[in-house]
Amino acid sequence: MAASIETDVAFQRCISPLCGATYGVDEVHTSCPACGNLLDIAYDWDRSRPPSSFEHFETKWMRRSDPVAFSGVWRFHELLPFAPRESIVTIGEGQTLLSVADSVGGFVGVRPGRLHLQYEGLNPSGSFKDNGMSAAFTHARMIGAKRAACASTGNTSASLAVYCAVTRLMRGIIFIGSGKISYGKLSQALDYGALTIQIAGDFDDAMARVKEVAGKLGIYLVNSVNPFRLEGQKTIMFRVLEALGWEVPDWIVVPGGNLGNSSAFGKAFMELKELGLIDRMPRLAVINAAGANTLHELYTRRGLRWGGGKADLAPACHYYDELDRLEKRADTIASAIEINRPVNLNKCLRALEACDGVVREVTEQEILDAKAQVGAGGLGCEPASAASVAGAKQLVAEGVIGKDDRVVCILTGHQLKDPNATVAYHTTDQALFNEVLGSRGVSRASYANRAVSVGNRIDEIVQAIDLYG
Ligand SMILES: *Cc1c(COP(=O)(O)O)cnc(C)c1O
Ligand SMILES: [Zn+2]
Repeated sequence: MAASIETDVAFQRCISPLCGATYGVDEVHTSCPACGNLLDIAYDWDRSRPPSSFEHFETKWMRRSDPVAFSGVWRFHELLPFAPRESIVTIGEGQTLLSVADSVGGFVGVRPGRLHLQYEGLNPSGSFKDNGMSAAFTHARMIGAKRAACASTGNTSASLAVYCAVTRLMRGIIFIGSGKISYGKLSQALDYGALTIQIAGDFDDAMARVKEVAGKLGIYLVNSVNPFRLEGQKTIMFRVLEALGWEVPDWIVVPGGNLGNSSAFGKAFMELKELGLIDRMPRLAVINAAGANTLHELYTRRGLRWGGGKADLAPACHYYDELDRLEKRADTIASAIEINRPVNLNKCLRALEACDGVVREVTEQEILDAKAQVGAGGLGCEPASAASVAGAKQLVAEGVIGKDDRVVCILTGHQLKDPNATVAYHTTDQALFNEVLGSRGVSRASYANRAVSVGNRIDEIVQAIDLYG
């Protein structure tokens, strides 16, 4: 048995090695009060002594009646020991699957058995966000918060809303931009009863406003600038390793929006390496949509690097000024990654450095074709998730990912989150196709599965089944 979790082994620490300021886990910050950079949750591993082998976590499956052992997040409590057991908030998140997907692997261009899909759509609210929300709620409970808020392209709000509805611990307040939220996600926030505030602006505007309001009114912020959320999202990687018999894959491929997930993945592997639980790092590929490609622009085109935390990150600010001058707004059908000012940029740069990472951008056409392949392969996803598969395909074509590499693409959200995009792709209605997709430069639906229209007559129906069945 591992020792019980003592919260004084955990603290908050500025990610800048030039600052390195530390704060207690009983404090609430969304940035370093001393220098403004992001904060990490850090641990004194010598004192918390996590298990020395992964098998410890597997044995928890035998105690599924214990909610903390059942949770795919809290099964790994010793690897995120910031909260005592009695503070833990779980609604059963993290029961997600890693599966081999050979048809999608063929599309991507790797050999059979090499492409794996980590399906985070199976979470209670249908996206990976629940991994982080259970950790944020746990921290909120530790400090006694009564209200929680987020800005959201949809999935964070759905997740916040379901945790509020199930646990009754806090009132949820959601900030969304106008127009750009998919109905699947908006319907969740409304149905779960969260206060939903639609502001005239886009996600980047909503993010700026919610930070101000949360600071002013003392409302607990659950966006991924909240460092506790990323602790929960680390466990996605623990489950990937668990499903691979604790072997490290060659590649993790993930869509990049606010860059919380990619940051959390990098931190997870850095810590496992430090603890001696793994002996090598996987490579990380973060995939932007071409219409929201800040990371790709800064990392791949302009060569921005973390540089051990000592590099000059001013080019990011210059780039944001350029965006403002050109009045350039993020624009992609992959609404979950329609973000031009990723709040976790610095942490993501650190993760890319630790995992010898690459960044690519993919077009709307590539995203939708990849999404159709994922759906046909059995586990449907929303457009943003398919960016990972489209990005993997591009990297195989370039020879960066080898055909024999073991690749894990993260499917971040469920197919039913955005049915409009799916129906518009498969439709026979050219006007609908043009309106939803043609206007975005999508010229064809290469893998459409079109409905067959027939008269209300048995002979026509039989003929159609003979022809196409
Ligand atoms: C939030 C979200 C993303 C983006 O993740 P970040 O951590 O913000 O980079 C991607 N896909 C889906 C489905 C999401 O909900
Ligand atoms: Zn600092």
